[in-house]
Amino acid sequence: MSDLYLRLANTPLGQTAVKSLGLPSPVPLTRLQRPDQPFIEGDVLIGAANGTKAVASLGLTISASPANLFFASGAESLGDSEQAGKKAKALDLSAPIENAFKALVFDATGIKNPDELKALYAFFHPTIKKLSANGRVLIIGQTPSSCRKPANAAAQQALEGFTRSVGKEVGKKGSTANLIWIAPGTDQHLDSSVRFFLSPRSAYVSGQTVRIGKSDLAPAVSQVKPLTGKVALVTGASRGIGEAIAQTLARDGATVIGLDIPQALNELRAVTDAIGGKAFACDITDAAAPNLIADFIAEHFEGIDLVIHNAGITRDKTLGNMPEHFWDMTIAVNLSAEELIDEELQKRKLMRDNGRIVCISSISGIAGNFGQTNYSTAKSGVIGYVESMAKHLKNGVTINAIAPGFIETQMTAAMPLTIREAGRRMNSLSQGGQPIDVAEAIAWYCSPASNGVNGNVVRVCGQSLIGK
Ligand code: NAD
Repeated sequence: MSDLYLRLANTPLGQTAVKSLGLPSPVPLTRLQRPDQPFIEGDVLIGAANGTKAVASLGLTISASPANLFFASGAESLGDSEQAGKKAKALDLSAPIENAFKALVFDATGIKNPDELKALYAFFHPTIKKLSANGRVLIIGQTPSSCRKPANAAAQQALEGFTRSVGKEVGKKGSTANLIWIAPGTDQHLDSSVRFFLSPRSAYVSGQTVRIGKSDLAPAVSQVKPLTGKVALVTGASRGIGEAIAQTLARDGATVIGLDIPQALNELRAVTDAIGGKAFACDITDAAAPNLIADFIAEHFEGIDLVIHNAGITRDKTLGNMPEHFWDMTIAVNLSAEELIDEELQKRKLMRDNGRIVCISSISGIAGNFGQTNYSTAKSGVIGYVESMAKHLKNGVTINAIAPGFIETQMTAAMPLTIREAGRRMNSLSQGGQPIDVAEAIAWYCSPASNGVNGNVVRVCGQSLIGK
């Protein structure tokens, strides 16, 4: 699906018109060009509040890239990590700064009370204007609920407001700002999330907060094919976001079972044939579906590692005008089917250890939407399901959700023009996302190295102005 405005606004004539009329001026986003591309290149500056351990693991991850690493004076604990310390140069923020930074990374875990929040100002005030287009701001904090003292919890929660506001400011340059909250003692689980948020894979993810919790030590994974040996089920895989998920998981090494309704079998086969996967036609709302899906998996594989509940429908009508079957179908496809399929896979012990379940919610499920009481109810329910299941799953299985904003697919192409244009522009990046943006976030959740990421809801919405 094409965004004509984005293309026109980036022509010389368009740029002049956009400026003089004060219209939104979206910057084309840089996305991944090749799977073996380094996750970040260019100058990266790391700062820290009071020098904490997390900086050492941050430095280690970033020093594995070809980026030129700098640390702001005061973040010296970077020297804890020999490899990172060797590569990094000190930068005095009180002197004029010449660099154009690809990323500004700040370890705020050491901030213990509101007074110490000043460390954010001290680091970002002299550097934020030096962030290049398509740049990244990444802040690491401590999960507020794990802080014993109220002043500490307040200061850590404050990071969310800071990050979201920075996201709104840097979005004008196609840049993003995100926050990772770690539970004490989990900094060794930062690696996969730092790589994701600093890379072009997260081009359309901004203003988000991710919680990393305790888990077993992450296994070493190939950065190019982290899903080798994994079997994935992707529902609604014949087109749109589901097609991109199937292609992306296959790119990362997984064998994909694509599922879609029987009427879409030809399109589905075209997708799965191209990635060496298997097609399975089935309506997930049929009473027999969970059993048939489990049978199909058991017949072809020993079990399943990745289950991506992507299939979804909208049946929009204001509540008073909504026929009963619109309500029933929307809840069944978007919510009930996911639960029933997961239940069956677990009952038959087909879900393998360290598996991943990913559900697709929506910003409509967070903010509500006119004419979508049925859809918003279902997508909100998805969040409740994920948060509850995360506490119950065993054997290293995680469950997370993605809440897409406006993504360019047939679903959004069917919207009336004015609503479509509003959806595209009402976010910090002033443009719609692509199916690949959702798929990349799912691939990050699915990585064996993301085992500390559980029970999260990340919006892939360009920091939509709708919702919290
Ligand atoms: P889409 O309509 O292009 O694709 C959805 C796919 O699901 C289709 O292939 C469809 O055949 C399949 N499907 C529908 N009902 C099914 C059923 N009963 N059994 C099996 N397959 C079924 O939609 P999309 O835009 O690619 O959306 C994918 C997911 O992302 C959905 O869950 C949607 O609600 C969600 N989402 C999309 C957007 C967006 O902007 N496009 C925004 C928020 C959330």
